[in-house]
Amino acid sequence: MKLNELTIKQAHEGLVAKKFTSVDLTKACLAEIKKSNKKLNAFITVTEKEALEQAKAVDKKISAGKEIGILEGVPMALKDNILVKDIRATSGSKILENYVASYDATAVEKLRIAGAVILGKTNLDEFAMGASTETSYFGPTKNPHDTARVPGGSSGGSAAAVAANMCIYALGSDTGGSVRQPASFCGVTGLKPTYGAVSRYGLMAMASSLDQIGPITKTAEDAEIVFETIRGKDEMDSTTVENKNKKGKIDIKKLKIGIPKEYFVSGMDPKVEKCVRDTVDKLKKMGAKIVDVSLPHAEYTLAVYYLIVPAEVSANLARYDGVRYGYQTKKSKTLLETYLKTRAEGLGDEVKRRIMLGTYTLSAGYYDAYYLQAQKMRTLIREDFENVFKEVDCLVMPTAPTTAFKIGEKIDDPLTMYLSDVFTVSANIAGLPAISVPCGEVKKMPVGLQIMGKWFDEKTILELAKLI
Ligand code: GLN
Repeated sequence: MKLNELTIKQAHEGLVAKKFTSVDLTKACLAEIKKSNKKLNAFITVTEKEALEQAKAVDKKISAGKEIGILEGVPMALKDNILVKDIRATSGSKILENYVASYDATAVEKLRIAGAVILGKTNLDEFAMGASTETSYFGPTKNPHDTARVPGGSSGGSAAAVAANMCIYALGSDTGGSVRQPASFCGVTGLKPTYGAVSRYGLMAMASSLDQIGPITKTAEDAEIVFETIRGKDEMDSTTVENKNKKGKIDIKKLKIGIPKEYFVSGMDPKVEKCVRDTVDKLKKMGAKIVDVSLPHAEYTLAVYYLIVPAEVSANLARYDGVRYGYQTKKSKTLLETYLKTRAEGLGDEVKRRIMLGTYTLSAGYYDAYYLQAQKMRTLIREDFENVFKEVDCLVMPTAPTTAFKIGEKIDDPLTMYLSDVFTVSANIAGLPAISVPCGEVKKMPVGLQIMGKWFDEKTILELAKLI
């Protein structure tokens, strides 16, 4: 096995046993990036020099006989909407093409304290808006399992980088599925923590009431390791709370798993459904109790999501005005013209579409009809989950209705693209933790199974994911 193919746990054990150094491990990942990135376009920026320096520092510690932490010296990658001090952060947009971050995101600070080696920044849909990584100004990322297909999105660069062994693990962000859906398409594991579990400080805001940073890893065990490192209260993000994961294993024989009927709908690939159902059958054979449940407002979830998200996007992206950050038009005579032209030239179609939709739904006369209605429905959707979780410990469903689709297949049809989020957005709407874990293949493309848990009960879904 090549060093870059190791999991976090294996890498750590090898470092401790002095089978290889952190520099060896880092060089193996950098070599894979050099080999595959031209083909896959997973990385926007590679920080080779910094990574090797970080690795050397860890090696020094090891040779001095000091103990190291589980993530220490293990090379990883960050989605390019997460800030690393003095490193370019583009968010996949022309408007931030040359923007250099002035501080570390809290999640990055925590990883630094844990001794992580940062290899670079990964590609994404522009400002994380998309489900295919095709809206990036830096070109699409390709799926390592089939380069004619998308890796999913918006954290497609991170998922592809992990799947292609360009790094040991990565961070993504998930507003409506952007960690889980690409994990599913690329055959790796992706965890969206409970809203408030991980600080969003230093994550470029997309839709602030939904955004959450999460790990993309090769195993569920690794996802837990990364989550344990980045979680916790942060005074820079007032939505975070002190939250400690429960300890110990779960007893599968005592576990009640809900199967929401609204998530097994016509229109999804029957082979994907079969993979998920076969896995559920196996869990049943292991002793889990399988319960059919209903989430009566599920049919409104996608509509609610695509009202609330553009509304929040239109407010959050107002800051990219050509004055405060990044790109500025060269063709303006007045301040107003600077704003208008900078945004016209600097932002892509999908981002503009959402800003316009959001501005419209927030405007006087439409606010009550759209935005307010969506917020009310959001409460009902959340209550559906509250009710169902009185009965079961977690829910199981597919992560996405299909496996990875072809590049170009949906990019000109936004509605079809939005439909690929149909199973993932509810966890964000309700703030629940959810994980995607590989459960099989259809025509050689990976299928992801999604587990949703109770608020702040990442433990149960991680343990079940480990079993799967
Ligand atoms: N595909 C969804 C969207 O386009 C999810 C994006 C995300 O989670 N960042 O909004």
